[in-house]
Amino acid sequence: MSETKIRLYVDQPLGPGQAVRLSPEQTHYLTGVMRLAVGAQVLLFNGQDGEWRAALVETGRRGAIAVCDQLTRPLAMPPDLWLIFAPIKKARTDFIVEKAVELGVRRILPVQTRHTNSERIRQDRLQAHAVEAAEQCGATWVPEVAELQPLDKLLAPWPADRRLYWCDEAAAGAPAHITGDPGASAILIGPEGGFAETEAKRLRAMPGVTPLSLGPRILRADTAAVAAITLWQAACGDWR
Ligand code: SAM
Repeated sequence: MSETKIRLYVDQPLGPGQAVRLSPEQTHYLTGVMRLAVGAQVLLFNGQDGEWRAALVETGRRGAIAVCDQLTRPLAMPPDLWLIFAPIKKARTDFIVEKAVELGVRRILPVQTRHTNSERIRQDRLQAHAVEAAEQCGATWVPEVAELQPLDKLLAPWPADRRLYWCDEAAAGAPAHITGDPGASAILIGPEGGFAETEAKRLRAMPGVTPLSLGPRILRADTAAVAAITLWQAACGDWR
């Protein structure tokens, strides 16, 4: 049997002896692009049952079938961190989703703010991007990418037990401050135009909101997302 590091997300149960039918796209990738044949091994995960080694037993047109034989890694959920961000240009929004999955967040929530550059997103495309990132980085869990929603709606009501780290460009230069408290958290990143004064006023008045500085320079939104998740993960996430 050929050893492989190919990892695929499947939306089906996994377990000992479980047969899994792969999609036509996955089948094309395995047999047409990677030239795998019956007997080859792949790694499968579904965000619930951990990662399983499986062997291809059929490579038909309707989709290859793989049979699980061994649990290679148990499910490891990322810490309870949400990333909330205002979508920017397509490639940079893709970058934010990809890096959020790699760095480790549990949910990704695009929001519309007063100065949001993008009126619409393709949620299905961003979700597929999150799946690809999880396949590539070894995660056994895929964060949900929510539909675009107005920031106002997300904040009312904001869950009392979730700390909101508001990356506030007006706080730039103040020391970055995330405590070692591993509780439920969220990070909020604004659009290229920053937050409107009405939004800033509302966030300042909300209990459970901590303004967060990301250093003395103004970062692009995609850089800010990576920097903030990194700070949080190092202080109270699963990097410690
Ligand atoms: N147009 C805004 C300005 O010049 O003030 C800059 C917006 S910045 C490109 C996009 C987002 O990244 C901001 O809304 C904020 O959430 C975050 N950000 C960028 N630099 C930051 C910093 N030094 N401290 C905190 N947040 C920052």
